[in-house]
Amino acid sequence: MRKIVIAGNWKMNKNRAEAAELVKAIAPKAEDALCDVIVCVPFTDLDVVCNAAKDTKIKVGAQNCHWAKSGAYTGEISADMLVEAGIEYVIIGHSERRQYFGETDITVNQRVKAALEAGLKVILCVGELLEEREQGITAEICSMQVKIALTDIPADQLDNIIIAYEPVWAIGTGKTATADQADEVCGIIRNVIASLYCECCAEKVIIQYGGSMNAKNAAELLAKPNVDGGLIGGASLKPDDFGVIIAAATEEMKK
Ligand code: PEP
Repeated sequence: MRKIVIAGNWKMNKNRAEAAELVKAIAPKAEDALCDVIVCVPFTDLDVVCNAAKDTKIKVGAQNCHWAKSGAYTGEISADMLVEAGIEYVIIGHSERRQYFGETDITVNQRVKAALEAGLKVILCVGELLEEREQGITAEICSMQVKIALTDIPADQLDNIIIAYEPVWAIGTGKTATADQADEVCGIIRNVIASLYCECCAEKVIIQYGGSMNAKNAAELLAKPNVDGGLIGGASLKPDDFGVIIAAATEEMKK
């Protein structure tokens, strides 16, 4: 049975004091969780969040990293820098990076490779635009994004990769994919992993759903066979709501 992974994406929210406070509020909710709990926070919060998360079940991630080891890349952070800061996870290819910062499938692949080489675990985001869903090309778009992102990534690194299926039209909009839609595309992505690697790899890989997952809809989404967790933006900033999602994941894991 695959483990469920609940990850919060705080985006560009929370100053250092607020970040420490939020981790303290989440910690008791993660204490008895059977799922993994990760918070992906702004770079400037990483050290305070790592400190606040020490001796808790909460794991810490960043929201991006560069592909080069060092160099003239003003404003960027390398994977080695994150490792040195004690960080375990990094989100790569979030749709907001693709939409606002020119991230492409090729640079996503470069960043994934660099992160894995540095020893980070990757949360790789893929997902279609609303127009693409309406044109009926969701499967093609998500398959292509996964294939390019995983180019030259060996099978033994799949244990260090979580794929997050995030339909762009559902992120931050309050419009959630139905549980069936989420399950269908997570299943398509699983088949892509089977074709790129092997059936066993596909059975093992963790595939999250992200896009307006919240305290009300989490249980239904997490009950779907191909949905192994959630990447959660807005609701991850509300400790009570995030706690309900963690509890729903724990209940699902008990089944
Ligand atoms: C996200 O940021 O990855 C996300 C899914 O955001 P939200 O939950 O707010 O839609």
